[in-house]
Parts: sequence; structure tokens; C-alpha cells
Amino acid sequence: AAKDGGRGIHRFYDRTMHADAEDRRNLEQELRQALSADQFHLVYQPQVSTANEEISGYEALLRWNHPVRGYISPAVFIPIAEEAGLITQIGEWALRTACDEVAKWPRNVKIAVNVSPIQFANPGFPAVVMNALSRSQLDPGRLELEITESVFLNEGDNTDQMFANLKSIGIRLSLDDFGTGYSSLSYLKKAPFDKIKIDQSFVRGASIAGNRNAAIIRSIVSLAEALDMETIAEGAETHDELALIRDLGCSHVQGYIYSKPLVANEAVALLAEGRGPLVPTGLKS
Ligand code: C2E
Ligand code: MG
Ligand code: MG
Ligand code: MG
Repeated sequence: AAKDGGRGIHRFYDRTMHADAEDRRNLEQELRQALSADQFHLVYQPQVSTANEEISGYEALLRWNHPVRGYISPAVFIPIAEEAGLITQIGEWALRTACDEVAKWPRNVKIAVNVSPIQFANPGFPAVVMNALSRSQLDPGRLELEITESVFLNEGDNTDQMFANLKSIGIRLSLDDFGTGYSSLSYLKKAPFDKIKIDQSFVRGASIAGNRNAAIIRSIVSLAEALDMETIAEGAETHDELALIRDLGCSHVQGYIYSKPLVANEAVALLAEGRGPLVPTGLKS
């Protein structure tokens, strides 16, 4: 019986894994056509200054509207695009689209665009950035590229050069999902980041008494201040989390407490003249 059971379990796993692999292959095929079929768009989530609750910028987030499956999360399709060699093209589309759209908006807010480590490893990447800036006429100082700690995992000889080249264009760099990855502090010493994004896993529930997250956020903020970098707390959802983030001295906040990611015309509406600071409304329960 033990033997049968063992085989049974084995078959079960085989079948699941097969389905997963097949699913992935299908998604990969469909991703190949998604760009030309115009199935991507960007949504924009406000980044808010804690000092005055003004919108300092937006993060552009990719959305794939699949004709049959509907909405698929970037957390699912970005890794597939990376493995299938499609992220270079898709990432370039996101960068160009973000620059083109934001250059037409009524206020000079910043725009943050996520960059895959695969794009970052490509020596041609700075030229892609310069091209996106020149066709959109966006001021380089308004573009911020978000890079995760994983770029340091397979750090090649040209990583330092890449940072130097990107900074010489005049753009800003931010370190995304800080504290969740490779988390060596040595790269903070040399990589020219303008902003550290404190990962939402530290922000969520940080206000609960006895929670250790507040201590971690506090130390990231003091580290960032000493290195002359801004800090942004990601994924703040509640008034308590916001209050704590402000107490701990984060310079910026991004989270559902202020706004979910918005389609372009909604993002523009928030920048309309005469509109005051954002009001933290939090999640509707
Ligand atoms: P990320 O860059 O860390 O983006 C933040 C994610 O947190 C977004 O998820 C955003 O919608 C979500 N978020 C923001 N505030 C809250 C909150 O208060 N509560 C909760 N529960 N979530 C919040 P999204 O849009 O699903 O994106 C997931 C990830 O996909 C991104 O994480 C990024 O790593 C990747 N991604 C998205 N767009 C692109 C892109 O254009 N290029 C690349 N390479 N990656 C992208
Ligand atoms: Mg990001
Ligand atoms: Mg993040
Ligand atoms: Mg992330």
C-alpha cells in the first residue's frame, strides 16, 4: 500500500507539474503576440511626499489584458517574459510609453519605471533610455528607474559602468523592494541610488505594537539619510501604517492608503490645477 501511495503521489506531482509547464508554454506563446496585439497598458500609482501630501511622481506598472484569461498579474508574466527573452522588448515598450504619456501631463511630476535585471545587463540599455527621453522630450531629471537588489546577484564587470552611464544621462535611480533580496549593504556604498523603496513586507502591519518592522524601517531611514538618499514606504494601506511611516521619517509613501494604480486619464485628473494635496482614504472595507 505504501508503494501504491508513493506512486500515487508521484503521479499527482507529475501531472501538476506537467500542467504548469504547459500553462507556461501557452502563456509564453501568447506573450510573444501581446505587444503587437496591443494588449499591454500602463497604470500609474501616486508617490506622495510625507511633508505636504503632494504627488511627487507616479510609478508606472505594466498591465496585460489577456483576451481570454482576462487580467494577468505582472508578478506572473514578468518572470515568464524574462525567461523567454521577451523582457527587453516589453520593457522598452513600457519605458517609451511611460515617457511619452507623462511628458504630456499638466505638472512636472516624476515617473518611475521598473527595469528588469536582464535589461540592466544589456550594454545597449543607456541608448534605449536616451532614445525614450529624446523622442518624448521628457526632462531626464523626471525619469527614475527602479532596479531591484537582484541586479547585484550576477554582478558583471560592467555593472559599475552601467550605473555611471545611466547617471551621466541625468536620470534618477531607485532601489526597489529593499530588504527582501540579496541585501548586502556593500552596493549601497558604491551604487548611486537617489531613493530606497522600503519593501511592503516591512510596511504592512508595522504599526502593530511589538512588531519588529518599525525597528527595521527606522534603521533603513537613518541609513538612507546618512547616504543622502530619499526613502519611500511601499504598500501602506492603513492610517496607522501611514502615521508610523511619517513618525519614522520616510520622505515618501506609495500605497493604497492614498491610491491604487490608476489608468492614465485618472492619474492626470489628480494633477489638475487647483487640486490640493492627496487625502489618505485607505482601503474600503
Ligand atoms: P513593484 O515594482 O514592487 O511594484 C509595487 C507593487 O505593489 C505593484 O504591484 C503595486 O500595485 C502593489 N502595491 C502598491 N501599493 C500597494 C498596497 O497598498 N497594497 C498592496 N497589496 N499592493 C500594493 P503590481 O502592479 O502587481 O506589480 C508587481 C510587480 O511586477 C512589481 O513590483 C514589479 O516588480 C513588476 N512589474 C510591474 N510592471 C513592470 C514593468 O514595467 N517592468 C518590469 N520589469 N517589472 C514590472
Ligand atoms: Mg517598482
Ligand atoms: Mg517594490
Ligand atoms: Mg516587487
